[in-house]
Order: sequence, then structure tokens, then C-alpha cells
Amino acid sequence: MRNIVIFGAPGSGKGTQSDKLIDKYGLNHISTGDVLRNEIKNGTELGKTAKNYIDKGQLIPDELMVDILASVYDSFGKDHKGVIFDGFPRTIAQAEALKKMLATRGHNVAAMIELDVPEEELMKRLILRGQQSGRSDDNEETIKKRLDVYHGQTAPLIDWYKREGIHSHIQGLGELDRIFADICAVVDRL
Ligand code: AMP
Repeated sequence: MRNIVIFGAPGSGKGTQSDKLIDKYGLNHISTGDVLRNEIKNGTELGKTAKNYIDKGQLIPDELMVDILASVYDSFGKDHKGVIFDGFPRTIAQAEALKKMLATRGHNVAAMIELDVPEEELMKRLILRGQQSGRSDDNEETIKKRLDVYHGQTAPLIDWYKREGIHSHIQGLGELDRIFADICAVVDRL
């Protein structure tokens, strides 16, 4: 079982590379951002709560995220090929909760793959995505807040996963296929 955390700032290409990994390795996918946007679309209570945070570029409280994550994870059954965690964990508390949640099921995270992309490129990509997709949080003001949140709350996970001994760094700027090949080299070793 290959459980993989695909990690990086907003706009680093996590979603794009996740889709390619799913195709190649038959993995399952949890994008917490997609789960929340779906809840918003369906007008659920969770969606209403989430929208308040998302539109401000803030993170949804950890307790709420951890519950959602466990229930989506269990929906894949007991002996799946692995799950790509995309957009989770985003805080140290979430990383600890993920480790615990998996351990109680006899599972683990096999790799954390960091997509490293320079800040100016992230801004450019996110503004372009906002124009194309109309995502409400892909506007300049909210993007800046999300990048601040990333540096303050999420980036410390790089050292956390280094200490776990499962961190891999990938140069996330350049040709899509080269980036994917670099990721596959990590996954093939698992
Ligand atoms: P994403 O699509 O991953 O960029 O997520 C969009 C927004 O959803 C984020 O800016 C957060 O407000 C919220 N979100 C997604 N995943 C998480 C998470 N693991 N913890 C807290 N908030 C999250």
C-alpha cells in the first residue's frame, strides 16, 4: 500500500500531478479542497462553515478536517492500493492526526513528496487559474493570504516529514512530464 502525501504551496501542481499518479498507479485520491468545494456546492452545513474560511484564505479548523479525512479514507475499504493526500495535512496537528489515524488501521504514509515552486510563479499560475476556473479564492488578495498561511502554518511540515525520514524534494518548475518522471522515481522505490 502506497499512501502518499503530495505537498506544496497553492498552485504548485499538486492536483495535476495527482491526476497523473492516479492514472499510472491506480491510487485513490483525497483532495480536501475538492471535498470542501463539493460541500459548498451542495449547500451542506459543513459547506457553509467551510466557505467562511476559504473565502478569507484561511484554514478550516483541524478537528473538522481530521473527521472528514478519516471518513473519506475509510470509504476506500481496507486493502486499497494507496491514497494520495492532496492538500492535507496543512498543519503539524493534521500531520500528527493523519499518522495516528493511519496507525490505528495498521497503515502509514510511505512518502511525502514536496513540489517546490518559486513564489512569483505560484502567483502567476493562481491568477491565471482564477481567470479560467472562476474559483472564488483565486483572486490576488486571497492568494496572498493563502501563501502567507502556507509559509506560516504549512511549510513547517517539510522539516516535520524530514524528521519522519520520508520527505522527497522535487523541483516543481519546468516541464510537466519531467516533474512527473521525478515523482514516479520516488513512487517506484516505495
Ligand atoms: P486547496 O484546493 O487545497 O487549495 O484548498 C482550498 C481551501 O480549502 C484552502 O485555502 C483552505 O481554506 C481549505 N482547505 C483545504 N484543505 C484544507 C486542510 N487540510 N486544512 C484546512 N483547510 C483546508
